[in-house]
Amino acid sequence: MDRSSRNGTFPASSSTTRIVDVQVPVAIDHAYSYRVPSGMEVRPGDVVTVPLGPREVVAVVWAENPAPDPRLHNRLKDISDKLDVPPLRDELRALIDWVANYTLSPRGMVMRMSLRMGEQLGPERARPGVRLSGEPPRRMTPARRRLLEVLSDGLLRAKSDAAKEAGVSTGVVDGLVDEGTLTIQPMPRAPPPPPPDPDFAVPDFSRSQRAAVDAMRTLASNGTFHVALLDGVTGSGKTEVYFEAVAETVRRGKQALILMPEIALTGQFRDRFATRFGERPLEWHSELTPRTRARNWAAIAAGEAQVVVGARSALFLPYANLGLIIVDEEHDQAYKQDEGVRYHARDMAVVRAHVAKIPIILASATPSVESEVNARKGRYQRIALTSRFGGQHLPQIELIDLRREGPSRGRFISPRLAEEIRTAIERREQALLFLNRRGYAPLTLCRACGHRFACTICDAWLVDHRFRRRLVCHHCGFSMPRPNQCPHCAAEESLIAVGPGVERLQEEAAALFPDARTMVLSSDLITSIETMRSELNDIAEGRVDIIIGTQLVAKGHHFPRLNLVGVVDADLGLGNGDPRAAERTFQLLNQVIGRTGREQGHGIGYLQTHQPEHPVMKALVASDREAFYSSEIAARERTGYPPFGRLASLIISAGDRPSAESFARRLVAIAPIDKDIQVLGPAEAPLALIKGRYRFRLLVKSARSVDLSGYLRGWLASAPKTRGNLKLEVDIDPQSF
Ligand code: ADP
Ligand code: ZN
Repeated sequence: MDRSSRNGTFPASSSTTRIVDVQVPVAIDHAYSYRVPSGMEVRPGDVVTVPLGPREVVAVVWAENPAPDPRLHNRLKDISDKLDVPPLRDELRALIDWVANYTLSPRGMVMRMSLRMGEQLGPERARPGVRLSGEPPRRMTPARRRLLEVLSDGLLRAKSDAAKEAGVSTGVVDGLVDEGTLTIQPMPRAPPPPPPDPDFAVPDFSRSQRAAVDAMRTLASNGTFHVALLDGVTGSGKTEVYFEAVAETVRRGKQALILMPEIALTGQFRDRFATRFGERPLEWHSELTPRTRARNWAAIAAGEAQVVVGARSALFLPYANLGLIIVDEEHDQAYKQDEGVRYHARDMAVVRAHVAKIPIILASATPSVESEVNARKGRYQRIALTSRFGGQHLPQIELIDLRREGPSRGRFISPRLAEEIRTAIERREQALLFLNRRGYAPLTLCRACGHRFACTICDAWLVDHRFRRRLVCHHCGFSMPRPNQCPHCAAEESLIAVGPGVERLQEEAAALFPDARTMVLSSDLITSIETMRSELNDIAEGRVDIIIGTQLVAKGHHFPRLNLVGVVDADLGLGNGDPRAAERTFQLLNQVIGRTGREQGHGIGYLQTHQPEHPVMKALVASDREAFYSSEIAARERTGYPPFGRLASLIISAGDRPSAESFARRLVAIAPIDKDIQVLGPAEAPLALIKGRYRFRLLVKSARSVDLSGYLRGWLASAPKTRGNLKLEVDIDPQSF
């Protein structure tokens, strides 16, 4: 829209008006040009507001535009305002560019992650506070009386807090402000978080830890780009050891970021941090209130927060002077974001460290095959911790062959495992039954007619959730009450549960051990990080005898009384045809068994399996990690799968099958020929129907040396537009394939 000519002003002359390119936070890939109004000083990285269509949006000045097309000049709009927040520094803009380019995501969408979109940016606005003025109210009501009682101590309280404490609406507060009974004044801004003290409580390191500690300190004080793989067995003290790199970074006045899988962000970690540094770290994850997010964002951008512990999205924050990144449990799949901008936070953390020229530490007891290969090739420095701290032994692992010593029909805990659990409880130790399956049973069928309950819009069975008394689809969330009658043949009392979930295991455990206290830990029962914290506390303090859990319990936790893990179905993750299945299973089982024997006594893990000869089972029993990685690496090398080749997955979906399939075929037909690139498919995606959408998949495989993102960009640019409800999603480095 040509604003200047419409209202008759003269066009500004090009010699005096500056033009800059501004990236707006929407799904577009390039910056738009805007004029800089006279008197405004902006530089690349500055956060501004600009008009975009009918809206005003928060955006970022991306670059100067030294030679704008003069004909465009008068059609451009002005930047509205420059916000009083720290700029997005060059290194962060370089990361955003890199991620957008690599993942084929619009740059505007990647940038949104740095700006905490949807919330007010900038320094926290002062909240209104209220206190008593001394004037009596003109009229008294029960609500007013409660409010005045709360405020009778004369202290200043935030308006909303006062209302909440008294159990009244803020309208009651406003009424008394209008009558002069309460005075209103701004609440003082919360002080910046107190800095952690790097010398607060340095532990005594064991002899085997000392070399790793020295390596940590050196790496942090060198302050250059360098990747270290902190490869330490469970219970070796990886956290204590990497804390020394954090301490060194803090001493140098720089910020440290500790990335964790979201669910591991529990009180235990924060308490340990406080024990070591005297203060808790600043947190960043999806459950922060908007207010805390705003405050933490500002503290990070201003450089007041010295140590940040966060989930993957913390990687994109505008740190003022980031000096170190740690990726804890680096092998964890939760680092992959699978919607919106699809990125792998561990890999992008390495990119960030590279552009910022800082060290990064990847920590794990079971590194990803990618990191293991990088360490073997010398691209990453391996820092190893091969024994547990305090002389504790690594857990022993035994197999229970379900073909020979399985439980009776409809039961899932074998007699031998039951016996071991009984002994553990008698010794007043805890036991953990591990089954990576939520709900009561994965399938419900009718004994009379064979009808199976399936989701109508997904290619999946409905999972029986007894605690909620519903059958639930784990893919779209559809649920229905569990009926008493078969909807197909109308038989009564004919429905049977097939297979176990954690809820069913609890039923079995309760029947076997009527006096034991059981607890189910599963993501659908844990509604927040807060409930997780309290459940973990109950375990740590011994208020539970048998823990029954999904992978939620496998990660990072330290349970001092746990010495026995029974893996109910060790084969569960192996059967799905995914080339990463063996790696995943090996990591998961190692992690979960690694929860045992950490403080006293001997840990032991029992694996119930139908495949005792499987390489994963054999490696676990023999504690032969090297053998496992070597055979897995050889297999990847032979087949050209990552990290020896590159891989992308294109998912084409539509409301009907033929449209999705024919679009996928057209894509294949126009794929540019390249001898280093293979396009496989189309084939039905592993889940061929989700939420009523039919899905086809193309796998694109290339040599490592190929710029696969560039190839895809060229190919997709010439593809027909996805019209109607056709959708094309690109996933670089898919985690399951
Ligand atoms: P990992 O992360 O390698 O599984 P942790 O860092 O959780 O191991 O350490 C296991 C336990 O040993 C924790 O309770 C930790 O506090 C303790 N620990 C490790 N190293 C030391 C040390 N040097 N001094 C005191 N306690 C330690
Ligand atoms: Zn469904």
